[in-house]
This record gives sequence, C-alpha cells and structure tokens, in this order.
Amino acid sequence: MIYESTRTKERQEELVDNGKSQTRKSYHIVGQAFDFVPIVNGKEGWNSYDLELYIKYAKSLGFTWGGDWKGFVDEPHLQFEYKGYGTDKTLENKPKPPVYPGKIIKKGSKGKNVQLVQKELGINADSIFGPITDQAVRNFQKKNGLSVDGKVGPITSSKLFN
Ligand SMILES: [Zn+2]
Repeated sequence: MIYESTRTKERQEELVDNGKSQTRKSYHIVGQAFDFVPIVNGKEGWNSYDLELYIKYAKSLGFTWGGDWKGFVDEPHLQFEYKGYGTDKTLENKPKPPVYPGKIIKKGSKGKNVQLVQKELGINADSIFGPITDQAVRNFQKKNGLSVDGKVGPITSSKLFN
C-alpha cells in the first residue's frame, strides 16, 4: 500500500519539526518519492520489509530505497532520483484543475467542477453531486481535519487539489 506520495513544502516542514523526517529538501516535495507498507494478511506489515525481489526491481527502475540508508533508515521510502533532485517535471506539466470556481459546490450541484471533485475523490465521475459524492466529501473532510459539512468551498477545494 502506498500511503504517501507528493507533499507540500508546509507538510514537509511539519514532519521535520516533529522529527519524522530529517530533510527539508525531501524528494516528496518534487514528486519523486513515495512511502509504502507491505500488506500482510490484510494488515499493515511494518516489520515485513523483507521484499528483496521487489526492492531489486524498484532499484532497476532507478529508485533508491530508504531501507539501505545508513544512520536514518527509512524502510517505507522509495525515491526516484532520475536525473537528480527536482528533474521530473511531469507534475508541473500536468494541467491543474481550477482550485475554487468561485461558488460552493454541494448536494444538487452539477457539471464540470463536480466531475473534477469526483475524480479527485476517486469516485464515479458522473458530474452530479448526489448522496454518494456528499458522503465522499464528508469522509475527505473528516480525514483531513476540516469542518464536516459536505460542501466544497475554498478550504476543502484547496486541500482536495493541492
Ligand atoms: Zn518517504
């Protein structure tokens, strides 16, 4: 399971401040790293990083594994060094959806912006904000510590599309 990928600078600062990361120049910030945990019998296997074959494969693609590091060992971490730090421009070239269209999207809303929200939430993107979308928005808000009202306004929107 991949549980973290691209991070904002702010999120990285937070992790450094609470000792969970050692660098402010993380490959996560430039979209060239992800963190994963093996799933063993349906559970997160935090002591099960004996994945020689998979790690070897990742390395053959150009990844560096945090489990090989001396000092600060970071088993969940794989970073793609490619041609160096910040050289993968894929993220920058990806067209960004409008962060906040200027009006609140909520139950009953329809159209392109609803579709973008649905895609971001990983649910069926039928462009109609019905009960399933409402529940997905609420779950997302709860997970991200936002006030849970099922409405996509500026705060939920910026969290969703950051
Ligand atoms: Zn990491």
